[in-house]
Formats: sequence, structure tokens, C-alpha cells
Amino acid sequence: MNAREIRKILSADDIYEWSAFGKGGCWDWVGSLHNDGYAAWNTGGRQIKAHRASYLLSVGPIPKKRFVVHTCGNRKCVNPDHLELVTHKGLYQHNLERGDVARGERNGFAKLTAKKVRRIRKLAATGKYTHRQIGDMVGCHQCNITRIVNRNYWAHIE
Ligand SMILES: [Zn+2]
Repeated sequence: MNAREIRKILSADDIYEWSAFGKGGCWDWVGSLHNDGYAAWNTGGRQIKAHRASYLLSVGPIPKKRFVVHTCGNRKCVNPDHLELVTHKGLYQHNLERGDVARGERNGFAKLTAKKVRRIRKLAATGKYTHRQIGDMVGCHQCNITRIVNRNYWAHIE
């Protein structure tokens, strides 16, 4: 559904009315949810993502190849102030930083698990291996070992 169609059936006021104030200034969606936990707006047998609609109606159009992510980490939230646009790369980082391991693994975005992250840091701490060797050892060639070791990524894992 494109922006014009969405504007025809929904307004920013609708979004506001279909939500309740939650923790941290979130607008928790009170309507139905998608299987993946995102707010859903049902229309004519179709479901649209309400947080995307909220962004579109309150902030502006969503360019191609851009994704709307929650800065609050609450998928039910439709507060436009808690939404921001990211690129695909940004989405990947967003998922890593949020530590949404299950989602990352399911999406195939992250070939990493908490177990691997711990192993990587353990191997790095020995000082015996290059980061490339560590990548080979844990079977994660695309992983950014340096960032994992420096805790830029997966900082939530001990
Ligand atoms: Zn929120």
C-alpha cells in the first residue's frame, strides 16, 4: 500500500486514538498485532504496519530501501517520536545493538549467537589468534570480530 492510499484510510489522529500511553512515553497500540508483534491496522482484508503508517502520517514519506525502526525497542509503539528511518545496514546494526538475538538469528541477519560471542571474546583474550583466525574458528567469516571484541557490538553479552 502506498503513501497516498494510507493517507486516504488513516490519519495521525486515528493512530493516536488507537494507542494508549505506555512506559517511557510510548504509545502502545491497542489494536491488533502482527504475528511478529508489530502494531497492525486491518483494512479491507489486509494488514498494514501501524508504526510505518504513523511515521508516514506524522513525519513524512518513507523512501525506498529505508526501514522504520523503534528507538524505544517497543514493537507495539506507534509514537512518531520513537520512530526513525534507517538503511538496511542501519537496520542490521539496530538489531545487533538492541541485542535482539532471536530476531537476528531468525532473519539470518546475524550468524551469531550469544555462545559464539562469548567464545570469540575468550579466544581474543588469549592473545594467540588474529581476528581472522578467530572468525574461522567459530565459523563466522562475516562477523566483525574486532567490533565484537571491542564491545561495539553485542555489548549486552558478558
Ligand atoms: Zn516507544
